Amino acid sequence: MDRDQLVEHLKFAAELGVDGVSRDPTWRSRPDDLVLRQAQDERPLDTASLVVSQSNHELSFSRNAAEALAAVRADIGDCTRCKLHAMGRTQVVFGVGNPDADLMFVGEAPGADEDVQGIPFVGRAGQLLTDIIEKGLQIPRKDVYIANVIKCRPPGNRNPEPDEVATCEPFLFQQIDIIKPKVIVALGKFGAQTLLRTLDPISRLRGRVYDYRGAKLIPTFHPAYLLRNPSSKREVWEDMKLVRELLKSEV
Ligand code: URA
Repeated sequence: MDRDQLVEHLKFAAELGVDGVSRDPTWRSRPDDLVLRQAQDERPLDTASLVVSQSNHELSFSRNAAEALAAVRADIGDCTRCKLHAMGRTQVVFGVGNPDADLMFVGEAPGADEDVQGIPFVGRAGQLLTDIIEKGLQIPRKDVYIANVIKCRPPGNRNPEPDEVATCEPFLFQQIDIIKPKVIVALGKFGAQTLLRTLDPISRLRGRVYDYRGAKLIPTFHPAYLLRNPSSKREVWEDMKLVRELLKSEV
């Protein structure tokens, strides 16, 4: 990290509520109650080299993650599988970033800006997410992968409905299994509850690491929630420190 990056990083940490640093090693230790849990029903599939087209049940083989993702995107097409296609969405918002990313972020569903641009997290919440990634984690946004549980904008930004999740989540699972990230950050209650198959509140889910489809999953607050509740940035900063540790580790 060069001097300018360090200055940006420290400024961002200060914005998140970090008011000092210490050389004391105990300061870096984690609470004992950090729980590693196995999420139910989440066996990783090796789909990086094998993509199953749901529409025609043909098997197609892909040489690498980028091609495999492109095959999933082609399979989704101009999707009409759920009712959202007829409820005002402009386009499918598939996902963006490095197909070989070690770090993946999963949000809820595209909002108005994402629906227009076809790229996840490009509105105000997206700008904050970009800051968390680039200023906080010191990783260029293009080096991570960003996707949502639902690929089409629900009308009026309402919560996705169970039938929409059931129809769309297999595509997210395919993306995860192709990218094989080391760490997945589930953004907000909806993303975390959907992936972990739980109704626990995000305040209870965050602060822990879960085993998920071969990755370590860290739930944290959604950037849109942080825009309304800036004091929760402190907890997100704690979660991002954990992300950084896990990315450095061998697992
Ligand atoms: N919120 C989300 O959950 N996803 C986006 O892409 C944008 C906002």
